[in-house]
Amino acid sequence: MSGNSKEKKIISFLESVVGSENVTTSMFEKIKQSVDAFPYHADKDNLPIAVVLPETKEHISEILKYANKEKIPVYVRGSGTQLIGASRPHTSGIVIFTSRMKSFEIKEDYGYFEAGPGVRNAEAMDMLAEKGYFLPLVIGSKFIASMGGATSNNTSAHLVDTGIGKPGDYILAVEMVLPTGEIIETGTHGLRRPAGTDLTRWFVGGDGLFGVVTKTRMRLVPMIQYAYGIACFSELGPIARGVKRMYLEKKAPPIFTEFLDHNVATIGYTNKGLEPPPGHVIFFVSYDREKEAADKKMEMLIDVFKKEKPIYAHPVTDMDQWKKIWTARESTIPFLMNSLKGRLLVCEIVGNLARFEEAMEEGANFNKGIPYLEDLTNYLFGHIGALAFHPSFIIPPDLGDERMRELSTLLFKREAEFNTKYGTCGGEWGQFSKRKDFFVMRYGEASYELVKKIKAVFDPNNILNPGVLEGYR
Ligand SMILES: Cc1cc2nc3c(=O)[nH]c(=O)nc-3n(C[C@H](O)[C@H](O)[C@H](O)COP(=O)(O)OP(=O)(O)OC[C@H]3O[C@@H](n4cnc5c(N)ncnc54)[C@H](O)[C@@H]3O)c2cc1C
Repeated sequence: MSGNSKEKKIISFLESVVGSENVTTSMFEKIKQSVDAFPYHADKDNLPIAVVLPETKEHISEILKYANKEKIPVYVRGSGTQLIGASRPHTSGIVIFTSRMKSFEIKEDYGYFEAGPGVRNAEAMDMLAEKGYFLPLVIGSKFIASMGGATSNNTSAHLVDTGIGKPGDYILAVEMVLPTGEIIETGTHGLRRPAGTDLTRWFVGGDGLFGVVTKTRMRLVPMIQYAYGIACFSELGPIARGVKRMYLEKKAPPIFTEFLDHNVATIGYTNKGLEPPPGHVIFFVSYDREKEAADKKMEMLIDVFKKEKPIYAHPVTDMDQWKKIWTARESTIPFLMNSLKGRLLVCEIVGNLARFEEAMEEGANFNKGIPYLEDLTNYLFGHIGALAFHPSFIIPPDLGDERMRELSTLLFKREAEFNTKYGTCGGEWGQFSKRKDFFVMRYGEASYELVKKIKAVFDPNNILNPGVLEGYR
């Protein structure tokens, strides 16, 4: 059968499952579903044959059974915002776009909610807030990132892991379609997660390798109260020591502890019409069920950071001012790109507590010795309470795609060296694709081979997201 007639057959099968109005072969849509947040274009040889928008788990099951029989690669897309190249197709095939799978049900009598994979984080947040609940997942990309993406990533987002945990700590169960097409449900309808074998764990943070998430069941978390504080320092060392103190002096970990170096803070503050701070800033958000308790935790944190002699450290009670400061942080990436008129290259480095001062210093000098990048400014910001930073670079728009790829590969290599040195790993964007070499470097060939064998058990024909585990350049 010619390539063209094979494609026609695939398209007509997909149309028979979901209706022709839910299968697209338009070049615009193919390209749109083949790009991610990397600052270079779609891989033209890997454009999908078709993009399909299923509505039910049964649709996905039928598509995967067919793809298995015909050995056709299938890529699952939430919103395509992941930053390691795992959401772009690595070979031509079918793209399943989950945007129509928007079921959302709050079951207060059971104490949980269930979300379809196409529900966006911010939509879930708003629906939960209306009923007095909080979504324990606050990503910079929350207005577009999907619940399916968050589940298969198990991303910590801005949240401090030690403060509130990862989404997986709240996920009671998932409904999955296995790569071979069977539909399964894991976990529990109760509020106790299983002891011992819990299939949920294979899929939450499974990097989209072991199945397609069609529903996520998460425990309801009553709305929390916040208290806000900020500190400004002229040097990085005292900030790192302050964060260490927070842990070693056994303070209640905040829900957010964000850091902006002086350059990033200046751009963010200026964009929000605020007077730029005189140094690097760190701001923290304490939380509790009661406001008074949150305020108390905040005061204790400020006392901790005051021991490191900041330029200033104080609570923030003016909510208008707080919103501007928080937006200066939340919008770091667009502010940097707009203000500096370029494209973003970013990675994620994580220190450990014992060597945190050293790690922070190294993070500030992250681009030293990397050709080209060492001549650019390293805009450093991150989730410092989680000991995590994002070294970021704004690349002139006229640098070609191939050069951008090379630079991103160098950046991820450096990220891998850093995280291996400190014995850590990224907490936000998944472990494979651009990070495959890191996985091998950090955990060894035996661990990598083990994941390959596990993948083969779930997906004997390697049709689901092929190329992610193998690595992407
Ligand atoms: C501006 C910006 C800011 C960001 N800020 C943060 C941040 O603060 N913290 C953070 O952690 N991340 C951040 N990210 C990264 C990203 O938004 C998150 O990783 C997010 O969880 C990805 O969700 P998504 O819906 O876009 O997933 P996608 O990118 O579509 O998919 C990610 C992976 O999950 C798989 N997948 C998606 N849906 C399913 C499903 N239903 N079943 C099985 N597998 C699936 C895909 O195949 C892919 O491998 C940011 C990204 C951008 C562009």
